[in-house]
Amino acid sequence: MAVPKRKTTPSKRNMRRSHDSLKAEAFQECPNCGELKRPHHMCDACGHYNGREILAAG
Ligand SMILES: [Zn+2]
Repeated sequence: MAVPKRKTTPSKRNMRRSHDSLKAEAFQECPNCGELKRPHHMCDACGHYNGREILAAG
């Protein structure tokens, strides 16, 4: 079985983990109703996207 020749140093281990953290989810205000929504997604509150209604408001 292939086995690593050397133990991974703390520096290398931490470099590998530098991309592991989760980033805060992006959000913006809906131009129609002012609720927070995700960019490039239909508004959950009013069903609008790109200035028009996609889904009847629930
Ligand atoms: Zn909205």
